[in-house]
Amino acid sequence: MQTNTPISFDNTSYAFAYKTDQELKKAHFLFNMMGNPLIIKWGLQLMPLAIRFNLPFTQTIIRKTIFQQFVGGETLNQTAAVAQKLSDYAVQVILDYGVEGGIGDAAFDEAASAFIEVIEYASSQQNIPFMSIKVTGIASFALLEKIQSLMEASDEKTLMKRYTDAIAQLNVEETESLHRSVGRLQQICQAGYQRKIKVLVDAEESWIQDPVDALTMLMMDSFNKASAVVYNTIQLYRHDRLAFLEKSHEAAKDRGFILGVKLVRGAYMEKERLRAKTMGYADPIQKDKLATDTDYNKALDFCIERIAQIAMIVASHNEASNLYTTTLMQTHQIDSHHPHIHFPQVYGMSDNITFNLAKFGCSVSKYLPFGPIKDVVPYLMRRAQENSSVAGQTGRELGLIKKELIRRGKG
Ligand SMILES: Cc1cc2nc3c(=O)[nH]c(=O)nc-3n(C[C@H](O)[C@H](O)[C@H](O)COP(=O)(O)OP(=O)(O)OC[C@H]3O[C@@H](n4cnc5c(N)ncnc54)[C@H](O)[C@@H]3O)c2cc1C
Repeated sequence: MQTNTPISFDNTSYAFAYKTDQELKKAHFLFNMMGNPLIIKWGLQLMPLAIRFNLPFTQTIIRKTIFQQFVGGETLNQTAAVAQKLSDYAVQVILDYGVEGGIGDAAFDEAASAFIEVIEYASSQQNIPFMSIKVTGIASFALLEKIQSLMEASDEKTLMKRYTDAIAQLNVEETESLHRSVGRLQQICQAGYQRKIKVLVDAEESWIQDPVDALTMLMMDSFNKASAVVYNTIQLYRHDRLAFLEKSHEAAKDRGFILGVKLVRGAYMEKERLRAKTMGYADPIQKDKLATDTDYNKALDFCIERIAQIAMIVASHNEASNLYTTTLMQTHQIDSHHPHIHFPQVYGMSDNITFNLAKFGCSVSKYLPFGPIKDVVPYLMRRAQENSSVAGQTGRELGLIKKELIRRGKG
């Protein structure tokens, strides 16, 4: 670390240095809107309809407001301006091809090609060392769900044995479909390996996560021997994930690869709880927020203590989690730019964390989606929802923006 003084996330002049007064005022207006429950309620219902029926001015309004705040552009090339601006402040980029939800081999092939195109583009830029993928973009959700149910019925002890046990029971058509998906994943990871772009595999719903974990472990075994190229995502809002992190580390040690992990709390809490209740199985989510926070901290401890063998990504907007990681780094005398520690936040949110960490010398990035407006609407709706509570994230963002506007004499 640069200094022994703890980092502060309150410095708004660092946090918003990359925004002009006008951009800052726009962000203020937007977060104010998102704090209004009525606007959010109607906006979330109208936005997909307006896009679907191509209502006049819809795309223009979205493009000039929420899209600009949270998305890098409609095409890969359009992300260059944002990436360049971030690079001026030592902030890197995780590129995310924001198009969601195609089904069938043609759509999966198209998504795989798009992911590879992202890797090729990222490798041509100075500032884009990461990209993210979703396995459900290149594999059938129903097939993953079936593999998971077979894995759950297996008596085998390890994840990989349960996986091989399960896929041995698939019929010919399912086996061929799986092979095509594994092939796509291999091509993406191979491209990342060759072009030196790290591939972050997102965590999804718990009822398909076991095969996603198994496939990601297979990729890490192939591509993470010398350095971390492939990263799995661990959702600490699940009460079984700390144990899973420990087992993943054991497996990595046994097989001689570097374990890449992106640590998140988890994005599907309501959906997870509702499904468990409706279908009558034990809730996979921690009993409360404190339990999630406690396991998140324990996961940070675990990874930092094994930093030679684990490459970790602290993917959180929680100031305490980011602060705790920097404190651990100081305690363990780990260099701020250690290649195995990285801090990303979503583009358009928590700039106070990103830019203050960058100023402190840490390796940081913004998670930057891109894609045509109509295709990134689900992503924008999630961001709007996430920022809809004045008591929560929006209040914090608004407070910081106001503070900076006042500091600049524009408030
Ligand atoms: C770069 C990046 C990548 C991400 N990738 C993924 C991904 O691949 N998969 C994924 O699922 N999510 C992903 N997320 C989202 C992440 O999981 C969180 O939903 C989001 O970041 C909010 O958590 P937090 O740590 O930032 O902040 P906080 O505001 O401290 O935590 C909020 C989170 O705490 C948990 N929580 C809240 N209330 C309770 C409760 N009552 N009981 C138990 N837990 C509770 C929930 O997970 C909730 O989202 C990513 C986030 C970032 C920044």
